[in-house]
Amino acid sequence: MKTKGSIAKYTRWIILALILCASMILSSMHMHSGQKYPSIHAICPLGGLENLWSWAGGKGNLQKLFSGTMTLFFFTSFFALIFGRAFCGNICPFGTLQELFGKFSKRKIKVPEKADKILRYFKYLMLVFITLMAWMTATLWISPYDPYTAFAHIWSGKELFPENTIGFIILLFVLAGSVFIDRFFCKYLCPAGALYGIISKLSHLQIKRKECSLCGQCTKACPMAINVAKLDTVRSAECIACSQCITACPSKENDLQLKLFGKAVKPLAFIVMTVVLFFGSLFVFNQAGMLRLTIPGIASVKESGQYLKIADLRGSMSIEAGAAYAGMELSEFYKLMEIPLIVPRGTRLKDVSSYVPGWDFHVIKSSR
Ligand code: SF4
Ligand code: SF4
Repeated sequence: MKTKGSIAKYTRWIILALILCASMILSSMHMHSGQKYPSIHAICPLGGLENLWSWAGGKGNLQKLFSGTMTLFFFTSFFALIFGRAFCGNICPFGTLQELFGKFSKRKIKVPEKADKILRYFKYLMLVFITLMAWMTATLWISPYDPYTAFAHIWSGKELFPENTIGFIILLFVLAGSVFIDRFFCKYLCPAGALYGIISKLSHLQIKRKECSLCGQCTKACPMAINVAKLDTVRSAECIACSQCITACPSKENDLQLKLFGKAVKPLAFIVMTVVLFFGSLFVFNQAGMLRLTIPGIASVKESGQYLKIADLRGSMSIEAGAAYAGMELSEFYKLMEIPLIVPRGTRLKDVSSYVPGWDFHVIKSSR
């Protein structure tokens, strides 16, 4: 059925597809260019929450995270406070990936209401568990199990296995789940979605329904399985502000409306506004120097004289680059890191173990 919201619907899909493609290109650029482009960990806003304890305690950022990750965390939280879970509905590439897989089958599994309700709490447990574990271990321990990290590493061609084997298996499980249960990961597992859901309860975004014909198209269209047709106002933490219920509504009387601070906003305007404000703000943060998500180039490190601590070196750096970043002579660096001289200087630190069985970059650097 063609509805008045078709333009909004297709615009949203175009935007989501562009963001998903851009995130894949960025991941690939990071894998192939080392430190020049941000890693998937650096741009994950939830990393900021995992980093919070260490950062607030003045112990610096966790491995793979940067001050810009904190900016992203605070900003996306603020964004959720204003626009609810619009990040989930209109921006998040992993949400898009699930929606895409959901298109493969029209046959959906109807999870029994009681089980569905209980399962949805699981993502809150994940949020607490992941955050506490990160704070206790002072590492991004979730990384090998993270399906989106595995997805981002697919484009590397070589780093997926064995580092992300478990994450890859979870990714397959999540994508298979998304074919039969819309937004499977968002509903039951995503800790970031849980966080934004909690914050969104304070937002001034609502979906309002007037007396209508109760055709049920809105409920059918909702990827988060919210029974919109039965509610006067949707204020659920599960609502991802995707506007799909509104664009599916055939009423010409605006029976279903998205309201922000009490004012009706058309779906198309909401989608464009949230995306423009999101990326526009990131642009401003970047210009203001608040979005540092990569290690500065060797030249600028040398110029500033602010060499990295051994703990801040990255596995994707070559031995030679590691020595330069640490401000050490190459031979001194080989000795300090217990790397035999037969290992070529161009070898990435994380690959030294393929020459020296048992050599572990993370163990060595944390002991230095
Ligand atoms: S719930 Fe998680 S995966 Fe889903 S859209 Fe939100 S942040 Fe992305
Ligand atoms: S209620 Fe509407 S806006 Fe909220 S998730 Fe469902 S379809 Fe999207």
